[in-house]
Amino acid sequence: MSAVIDVQGPLRKMPAEPGAPVHYRMKVGDTLIPLNDLIGRELQIDFEGEIRCIHCDRLTKKSFSQGFCYPCFRKLAACDSCIVSPEKCHYHEGTCREPEWGETHCMVPHIVYLANSSGLKVGITRKTQVPTRWIDQGAVAAVPMLEVDTRRLSGLVEVLCKQHVADRTNWRAMLKGDVPEVDLMAERERMLETIADGLDALRAEHGEDAIRVVDESGLELAYPVEVWPSKVKTHNLDKTPQVTGRLEGVKGQYLMLDTGVINVRKFTAYHVRLQVFEPSPQQAPDLFSN
Ligand SMILES: [Zn+2]
Repeated sequence: MSAVIDVQGPLRKMPAEPGAPVHYRMKVGDTLIPLNDLIGRELQIDFEGEIRCIHCDRLTKKSFSQGFCYPCFRKLAACDSCIVSPEKCHYHEGTCREPEWGETHCMVPHIVYLANSSGLKVGITRKTQVPTRWIDQGAVAAVPMLEVDTRRLSGLVEVLCKQHVADRTNWRAMLKGDVPEVDLMAERERMLETIADGLDALRAEHGEDAIRVVDESGLELAYPVEVWPSKVKTHNLDKTPQVTGRLEGVKGQYLMLDTGVINVRKFTAYHVRLQVFEPSPQQAPDLFSN
């Protein structure tokens, strides 16, 4: 088999644009490879043993927080524990690891949303990250619920919601396409009623205007998936540096191969060689006939 694509470089999070279906590209070094066109092709990914920090380019044996070296992991605001638990944002205490980063990433409008990725869940994101965040989670639908002034406030609202709905995606169910139908508009209304007292308390503390109901309709998302796996097996480049298989779909930040799935984001900063091969003869008629 001859490779039609053969590129090398550090792996990056896959850029994705909403569409029917979502349009994905794979980023290897500076090369962007449109993935939707490659569904059905044989792929090979070789991890060549080198990981360079996405912030400082230092060689690192292990990747921390999806692509950072250990010193950066300890130093950068982007790797602080408040990124995972936004309600713990401590900018207002004057202890942000990088206040300037905090000003552009945390002290800006955030959205609290409801999504259906593997069932109903609540989540938060910077306003500018809608709908990227929803796609990264593999949500089939999402609806914004509240807009708030800061990351911390979004975390405090999320804490209210988490008592009633999940805040995590069951990624195995998400990848199997095993997603129940959820009426997100109805759930939004119900959630706003459920947390009304909590919201009043937060508004009393942070200002009436700091938490605003968003009345927009949601977004439905479809993914380029040809075959749903019945059992989800995962590839891990740390354990098996060579991954091969037929690309059957892309969802969230996962490539779905007939041999298993790979979470591309998890291997951000890994130096890889990606090869894509000509379709094998028996698949050729499907690809080229109308
Ligand atoms: Zn670093």
